[in-house]
Amino acid sequence: MLEAAKYNKLLINGEWVDAPSHFPVLDKFTGETIAEVAAATEDQVNRAVAIAKEAVEGEIPAPHARSAILYKAAQLLDQYKDAFRDVMVAEAGFTLIDAANEVQRARLTLELSAETAKMLCGHVVPFGAHPGSEKRIGFTVREPVGVVCAITPFNSPLNTVLHKVGPSFAAGNPTVLKPSSLTPLTSGLLGHVLLEAGMPAAYLHIIQGEGDVGELLLKHQDIAFYTFTGSTRVGRIIQQHAGLRRTQMELGSIASTIICEDADLDQALPKVINAGMRKAGQVCTSVQRLLVHESVYPAVVEKLTALAKTMKAGNPKDDSVKVGPMITEAAAKRAEEWIKSAVEAGATLHCGGSREGSVLQPAVLTNVPETASVWCNEAFAPIIAVKPFSDFNEAIATANNTPFGLAAGVFTKNMDRAMLAMRKLRFGTVQINETSSARADVMPFGGVKDSGFGKEGPHYAALEMTIERLMVLNP
Ligand code: NAD
Repeated sequence: MLEAAKYNKLLINGEWVDAPSHFPVLDKFTGETIAEVAAATEDQVNRAVAIAKEAVEGEIPAPHARSAILYKAAQLLDQYKDAFRDVMVAEAGFTLIDAANEVQRARLTLELSAETAKMLCGHVVPFGAHPGSEKRIGFTVREPVGVVCAITPFNSPLNTVLHKVGPSFAAGNPTVLKPSSLTPLTSGLLGHVLLEAGMPAAYLHIIQGEGDVGELLLKHQDIAFYTFTGSTRVGRIIQQHAGLRRTQMELGSIASTIICEDADLDQALPKVINAGMRKAGQVCTSVQRLLVHESVYPAVVEKLTALAKTMKAGNPKDDSVKVGPMITEAAAKRAEEWIKSAVEAGATLHCGGSREGSVLQPAVLTNVPETASVWCNEAFAPIIAVKPFSDFNEAIATANNTPFGLAAGVFTKNMDRAMLAMRKLRFGTVQINETSSARADVMPFGGVKDSGFGKEGPHYAALEMTIERLMVLNP
């Protein structure tokens, strides 16, 4: 077994390097320090960016070669899946199921990136549409955008990282990656796997550190593109520094799922409970608001509460545990406080809400005032707030009533209602007979409003990470 502490170095130009200072990485359940990770210095950040910049100016590996490397990495993920599981269970608090899902999805993300590398192309311009231009021939070419800086969050330390590194390399770009300082070891292990797959040294640099190291990366004019997943607060900081450079922003969210009177509850509720509680609710599309037609509301609250009670929370290494610890004890305390203050303001707590260390018991709440934090701020915790509605338009308005717009789900068998939902819900993704949280990695995925802009999904992200230039042949 590969121990997590091995992955504590920076990766610069194919070499694993140490730094003068380190930051601790904790096991999220036990609170023990599992590694001391090198915190990059300004010189190391500069070196990584300079080498990446040189790569952009040199010979770029051919698309078929990039594809082969990404395929090889996908295969290697299988070989290293136990090592990834162990690292993520420890540093991210993932349950065994969360970890297995993360690796499986990451493999697919790499395969989709490998396909994308071979298929990226421009298009032919129909000059015949313009009188006087009939004889012209024009086409566009897609070229790598340049040095890509990827800054990633703690809650998906493998797949979200690959949703950036995979398409970036597919498009021919070198990437400077700064993973979350809460879950840096998964990226360290991934770096080993990508090098073993043949990733050229200049094309991947892993710069570890906290927000201050992230800020060093924002100063660099040699970075052409920032791909960021994380909070809206940090997204705004990155956008301010980016100026005219391009960015992709996958930001915060308050996701709603709507259950109509004709929904198949046996289909919907197991999905809802999983979507609200998996990864301890620390998923950007987690069901935070569940809006339920009043005719089925009592049955939904009862069944959902019963299901929530089956979601055993605790030690993520125990294979009967379905809800692991939150990322820090402070995050769990904050969520516990939010639940308490909602209850003080009149909410009813049907189950959960108690905390031991960083483990919060999955909570189902009703009668939550709309001014309560669990309703109007991103909870990022295993909490579902349920609210009844009598009119479908009212449910749509309630779901839309947030600054965010990442994803929403609706359970209904009524086509008119489904179409109304698709038209009126102001979210990047609207899914019928699914929760807000269903995601296939092939999807174009991204938000509107304060949830950001730009699309993930290897094909779409690779397009974002290219420049399209026009070539015209005149007779
Ligand atoms: P975060 O914004 O705190 O941190 C994200 C990354 O930004 C980390 O690597 C962090 O070190 C870095 N960072 C922090 N300050 C910085 C600065 N000043 N300059 C540069 N980099 C800086 O987010 P988090 O707590 O790790 O993740 C949770 C958030 O991510 C939630 O809001 C969640 O909704 C969001 N998220 C969104 C999506 C999506 O697809 N929209 C997916 C996953 C998570």
